[in-house]
Amino acid sequence: QSKSRGKGSYTFFQPSMLNVLKDRQVRENEIRHAIVEHEFGYHYQPIVDVTENRIIGREALARWTHPEKGLLPPSSFIPLAEQMSLINEIDRQLILGCGALAVNSSEGSPQASYLSVNVSATALINDSIKTLVYELEKREIDCRNLVFEITESTLISDPTKARSLLRFLTKRGIRVFLDDFGTGYSSLSYLNEFPVSGIKIDQSFVRQLHKRKIQKLVSSIVTIADNLDLSLLAEGVETESQKNTLLNLGCHIQQGFLYGKPMAKDGFDAFVKAYPA
Ligand code: C2E
Ligand code: MG
Ligand code: MG
Ligand code: MG
Repeated sequence: QSKSRGKGSYTFFQPSMLNVLKDRQVRENEIRHAIVEHEFGYHYQPIVDVTENRIIGREALARWTHPEKGLLPPSSFIPLAEQMSLINEIDRQLILGCGALAVNSSEGSPQASYLSVNVSATALINDSIKTLVYELEKREIDCRNLVFEITESTLISDPTKARSLLRFLTKRGIRVFLDDFGTGYSSLSYLNEFPVSGIKIDQSFVRQLHKRKIQKLVSSIVTIADNLDLSLLAEGVETESQKNTLLNLGCHIQQGFLYGKPMAKDGFDAFVKAYPA
C-alpha cells in the first residue's frame, strides 16, 4: 500500500490497476478474435426522402455478435478498436464483406439504392483506403452507390493528406458526407478545406427542434448546404413534429426511429419491400 510508505512516495502499481489491465487485455483479445471469426456485421437503417415518401438509401451500422454477450453496439468496441489501431481493419472487413453484398443486392432497384458506411476518419490519413477502393473496383462494386460518413473531429491531423484522399474518392464516385454536422469545433472551416459532398445534421439538433434558436441554426445549415450545393440530411428523427419542423425548414431527407430502426439485412430487405406500410 502506498500510504504506509508515507507522503511523497511514488505509487507505481496497485492491485486494482492489475485488474484494469487484465480486463483491457481480455477485451483486446476478444476484439482480435472477433476479427478472425468475422463476428462483426452491419445493421441497416433506412434513409427517407420525405416529400416523395421513398427510401433512397440506408446507413450501415456496425454490430458485434459476441459469442456470450450477444448483439453489441459500436460503443462497446469502436473506441477500443481505435486505440488499438484496429478500426481500419474492422471497417475494411465490414465494407468488403457485408457492404459489398449490400451494394450489389440493391443494384437496379430504385429503393434503398445507396449505401452509407461509417469510416473512422483515421482512414483518410493513411493509404489503406486506396487499397480498399481498388479491392471494391476489382469486385465490380459500383462505387457511385457508396457514401463514406466521417465525423468532423478526426480529419484535422493531416489536412493535406486528407484533401488528397478525398479527391481520390470523389474521382471514383464515392461521396463523402460529414456526420454529426455542427457538433465539432470548426464545422465551417471543414467545409472550406475539404471537398465533401454532403452533411448530416446531428441528432442533438433534431432533439431540440422545439427551440426557436435551434430552428434558426438548422435553417442556416440548410442555407449553407444550398449555397455550397451539398446533400443534406437529418438524423435521429423520432417524432412527427420533428419531421414536420425539418420539412418546413427545408430538410426533406431524413433518418431516424420514426421511419425505421437499424435492422439486420433480411429484416431490412423485407422492410423495403413493404414500404410505405
Ligand atoms: P452515427 O453514424 O452518427 O449513427 C447514428 C446513431 O444513432 C446510430 O447508433 C443509430 O443507431 C442511432 N440512431 C438512429 N436513429 C436514431 C433515432 O431516431 N434516435 C436515437 N436515439 N438514435 C438513433 P449506433 O448504431 O450505436 O452507432 C453509434 C456510432 O458508432 C455511429 O454514429 C458511428 O459514429 C459509429 N459507427 C457505427 N458503425 C460504424 C462502423 O462500421 N465503423 C465506424 N468507424 N464507426 C461506426
Ligand atoms: Mg453515421
Ligand atoms: Mg451521426
Ligand atoms: Mg454519431
